[in-house]
Amino acid sequence: MLQVKNVTFGYSKTKVLKAIDFNVEAGENLAIIGESGSGKSTLLKLIYGEYDLKQGLIFWKDEEILGPKYNLVVGYDFMKYVTQEFDLMPVITVEENIGKHLSRFYPEEKQKRTEELIKVVELEAFANTKVKFLSGGQKQRVAIARALAKEPEILLLDEPFSHIDNFQKQGLRRNVFNYLKSKHIACIVATHDRNDVLGFADEMIVLSEAEIIAKDTPQNLYKNPKQPLIASFFGEFNVIEPYGIVYANQIQIVDDSDLKAVVETSYFNGSSWLIEADYKSESIFIEHNLELKKDAEIQFSISS
Ligand code: ADP
Ligand code: MG
Repeated sequence: MLQVKNVTFGYSKTKVLKAIDFNVEAGENLAIIGESGSGKSTLLKLIYGEYDLKQGLIFWKDEEILGPKYNLVVGYDFMKYVTQEFDLMPVITVEENIGKHLSRFYPEEKQKRTEELIKVVELEAFANTKVKFLSGGQKQRVAIARALAKEPEILLLDEPFSHIDNFQKQGLRRNVFNYLKSKHIACIVATHDRNDVLGFADEMIVLSEAEIIAKDTPQNLYKNPKQPLIASFFGEFNVIEPYGIVYANQIQIVDDSDLKAVVETSYFNGSSWLIEADYKSESIFIEHNLELKKDAEIQFSISS
């Protein structure tokens, strides 16, 4: 189990993280979400041992994670970290990058492992391509495969699919996260993309103003978002008194209701339309299966 105990940290006097406290079980998938600049990458770096802690402790099982003041070489064998920059070797191939730290004394083992990982990240066609010729998204996939080569016990992923296009993202997410589960590798994913979280994370932490403002399963936080910031992560929402936070898909247009609004704009959204309407001089957003004409008068109800 990873234990982060009362960690406070800042690069200067300003605190980037305050009294951060949480655990991650072996094999668990934990998502850390928060706006840009909320400290997600900093937290991953601290867990990796990249900086000395000013206050607090971090443990993986019985081993204390120590920073550069105590560790000549940053990092531990049981933990891998895929940064937002990837740090690959540009002039050697995809296959060589992935297998780089595997023992050359077991060539068959090495070959098998490399091939397995190339499949997970769907780079079969590029196995023998030099990394410098790859796109950003392809490099990101090599970095993930390389981090898995020696089968760590815990993997830190910093916005792991940010450079990968939408055509491939969802399939790749399923491959990678299912692979981690099957190997019982714990992972911490820093992200601002709900698709990295929904369907995969066992728990999620919400960082805001240097603190953890919520920690629960994605389902529970979705159903009961205590703050607008949390609701905004999941989708379009409104704050309507006395109901509180209401997602756009919790509003139905009905024939007869005391709640009345006037349509302003309809946005095409793929499987539905997002209707912006004026309710008591404020914009509200409603998910609806049809486009509605501007100035149409509508009545709506709210479901829980
Ligand atoms: P996130 O990953 O959530 O976008 P970061 O952890 O990168 O957030 O950054 C958190 C805060 O720390 C930001 O205000 C950022 O400017 C600052 N910061 C990040 N890295 C450094 C650094 N190496 N030196 C000084 N300040 C930093
Ligand atoms: Mg970051």
